[in-house]
Amino acid sequence: MDEHLEVVLGRVAALPAFDQPLMDAVGLVLCEDIVSGVSLPGFDNSAMDGYAVQAADLAGASDENPISVPVVGEFRAGHSEPIVVTPGTCVRIMTGAPMPRGADSVVPVEWTDGGTVSVRITQQPPLGGSVRRAGEDVTAGAQVLDGDTVLGPRQIAVLAAVGRARVKARPRPRVVVISTGAELREPGSRLGDGQIYDSNSYTLAACARDAGAVVYRVGIVDDDPKRIMDTLSDQLVRADLVITTGGVSMGAYDIVKEELSKLGTVDFPQVAMQPGKPQGFGVIGEDDTPIFTLPGNPVSAYVSFEMFVAPALRKLTGREPLARTLTTATLQRPLRSMRDKQQLVRAHAEFSADGVRVTPVGGAGSHLIAGLAQADALIVLAEGVTRVDQGEQVPVLLLDRPVG
Ligand code: AMP
Ligand code: MG
Repeated sequence: MDEHLEVVLGRVAALPAFDQPLMDAVGLVLCEDIVSGVSLPGFDNSAMDGYAVQAADLAGASDENPISVPVVGEFRAGHSEPIVVTPGTCVRIMTGAPMPRGADSVVPVEWTDGGTVSVRITQQPPLGGSVRRAGEDVTAGAQVLDGDTVLGPRQIAVLAAVGRARVKARPRPRVVVISTGAELREPGSRLGDGQIYDSNSYTLAACARDAGAVVYRVGIVDDDPKRIMDTLSDQLVRADLVITTGGVSMGAYDIVKEELSKLGTVDFPQVAMQPGKPQGFGVIGEDDTPIFTLPGNPVSAYVSFEMFVAPALRKLTGREPLARTLTTATLQRPLRSMRDKQQLVRAHAEFSADGVRVTPVGGAGSHLIAGLAQADALIVLAEGVTRVDQGEQVPVLLLDRPVG
């Protein structure tokens, strides 16, 4: 598995970044250092609704000894007035309004009677109290984000706050998903004898969307060499990465393997893993677009995505780390494993104060989709391991917790 992943990652490069409007960049990796052109706050302003004053005027103010001050104007957010606070006067001020010239502090409205002509103040503010200073958050010219930051809501906040409407970011990979098999039908249609619903193209489309890709689910192509190759060449124009399923094992109609082998740019290794032994990976088309030809068995296809395609998508998007972090969990039931393969066991993980507990769910068959739907973890049993007892610590991959 490690060898195959290394081959995959060796052939996949991060997509070139381009300028995007802020909301299109949510979830993407930033590709420039962001230096602020402005200071934040941009000007001294009030942190409270209250009165802008000269603090020295209010020495000794208390409940017993309120000090009355004439109100010479009103400042609200979004307005600035040419009014100056001279000694012994004040300006009524709202949160976010610029500080009037002459004032050094703000008295919160809670310390006053709220007067509009004259105000009774019962507490002296500290010098500079309730004033937000220009530049105390960001000084103009300071770097606010590094060039490899993943843009989530908090990073979008600072970008907007410093006035950026667009940023350079790596785009979402466009992923084309094709399922192959003469037995496949679309969900919602009627099944004839020997036919099954195509679940893989939905599974993988959902996986790719979860991983942040833009997905084109092409759906079913039957086991016809020409149709498969035509579909691939039609779809390449909109693909940064192609995923097919089916037709890569040892059967007589494993057309994907047969046809793509002829190109000489796609390899079909048998990987020492269960599920997911027959794999295919390479590049096709003028642009050397990466293609994964995953096995048809639904659990194999899913596990293969998690193990190989997900890291490749992270590389395309410029995210680190590429491999997901494993968690250690206590095994709740003994397990046996094949010595010559890495085994990925569907399991359910439970979280408690004393760590993670993990219980295998369903059987090992690669066709057992209902058990997969109950699983939220994969227990990773390395090559060489033949049994693990109840109570032992095992590495698990949590499936619903993207890391990094
Ligand atoms: P194949 O790799 O094409 O030999 O398929 C292996 C097994 O997976 C067969 O039982 C197929 O019927 C099944 N299979 C292949 N493709 C799909 C699919 N898209 N959805 C569900 N099962 C599939
Ligand atoms: Mg098939």
